[in-house]
Amino acid sequence: MPAEPEFDDLFALPAVDHPAPKERFPAKETMPDAAYQIVHDELLLDGVSRMNLATFCTTWVDDQARRLMNESLDKNIVDKDEYPQTAELESRCSRMLADLWHAPDPATTLGTSTTGSSEAAMLGGLAAKFRWRKRGGTGTPNFVCGPVQVCWEKFARYFDVEIRQVPLRGDRLTMHPDDVAAHCDANTIMVVSNFGQTYTGLFEDVAGIARALDDLQAGSGLDIPLHVDAASGGFLAPFTAPDLVWDFRLERVKSINSSGHKTGLAPLGAGWAIWRTADDLPPELIFDVDYLGGSMATFNLNFSRPGGQVITQYYDFVRLGRLGYTRLQEAIYRVAGHLADGLTAFDGFELIHDGDPNRGITAVCWRLTGTPGFNLYDLSDRLRTRGWLIAAYPLPPDRGSETVMRAVIRHGFTHDMVDLLLADIDRCVRQLASHPLKVSLTRAEAGGFTHNAKAKVPGAKPAATTHPDSTG
Ligand SMILES: *Cc1c(COP(=O)(O)O)cnc(C)c1O
Repeated sequence: MPAEPEFDDLFALPAVDHPAPKERFPAKETMPDAAYQIVHDELLLDGVSRMNLATFCTTWVDDQARRLMNESLDKNIVDKDEYPQTAELESRCSRMLADLWHAPDPATTLGTSTTGSSEAAMLGGLAAKFRWRKRGGTGTPNFVCGPVQVCWEKFARYFDVEIRQVPLRGDRLTMHPDDVAAHCDANTIMVVSNFGQTYTGLFEDVAGIARALDDLQAGSGLDIPLHVDAASGGFLAPFTAPDLVWDFRLERVKSINSSGHKTGLAPLGAGWAIWRTADDLPPELIFDVDYLGGSMATFNLNFSRPGGQVITQYYDFVRLGRLGYTRLQEAIYRVAGHLADGLTAFDGFELIHDGDPNRGITAVCWRLTGTPGFNLYDLSDRLRTRGWLIAAYPLPPDRGSETVMRAVIRHGFTHDMVDLLLADIDRCVRQLASHPLKVSLTRAEAGGFTHNAKAKVPGAKPAATTHPDSTG
């Protein structure tokens, strides 16, 4: 019989009586309870996700979704033959999104789940690159965009495509239709329009950009496709701004990416790429895997991936439907509007995006006017002492050194929480005003959660922009 342990309290066990392994692969085992406690307690240092208004991603899931995630912990989405019903739910979701985004024939077009919008964006970009090659494109391919999320700089770098970022003229914050054509040429594989910009939350004028490209084609013969990055907008506008035309209703839009794990309400690790028609996805990108004695098309960067995200996304669609998504997203916009209203009461704040569903996503973005004796990094740092994580960051470089603050309002954030936040902003602003800092904080000092996502490549020329989020 094993000897009785000398102590039975978890915190008196030898395993927790010394530092946790950090540098070297641990030599010995640890009891599951003790190992769990060590890991659990380390995570106490993380922020509270529901107070993280810097992220766009899901931070609230209901019990049923948790149950489904738990039940599908062991399902690999790539095993279509072994888990045909998971594969079926993925296909249903793709068709539902093709329908939601007005594809001409949702039943026959192609789409796929991904790990997020980044993978979906890469797939959209690769499809555009292959289509351009097939049209006879040679030389260095390029794509044209405004201020974009870092995934597009990654696409450019990883797949050797030149990124042409249209500079923002005057006080513009998004790519303007008038500025697009001048950056396009015969090697332009696509224009990427941002439907819900990371910096400000604003929608770009996708329809205007499509018209500008129509005019370009009429004048020069260049037929340049549009890809819409609807990471957040794709699950908002169809419900809360249905008359805004940004999707496959525009003939020129050939592909759309969106993050199921942002406004789509799915747990982290869900994204979608949908093509206008099956013909818009080049066959070279399609691989077949076994499926019910036959084969099924897959087009992903990953092979193995968890299946739960897609299963839970399907649950969300069934659970809410159009009516439920509309009610829920409208409620979130109302909460964003409440924050915007509250912010207007402060002297030094000027709103850039007030959470208007026709202008942008469920976020509020503001700048500081005048010289209050502190900057937005100082405010961000102060707010962090109360647990609020709110991003302050510089606008794209062509807007000078201007900094803004952005709060993304998501499922699970309430009117009451806005009131608590406003009270804390008020307290922090007063504190900073009455105890001015000798030297204001820099972006790097104000907290790692808004770190810039520029890749570190020795000798590489610096990326054109710094990024307001590490996460999306
Ligand atoms: C978040 C975001 C991305 C990246 O999406 P992930 O799902 O985080 O990979 C791309 N584009 C925009 C506009 C985003 O907001």
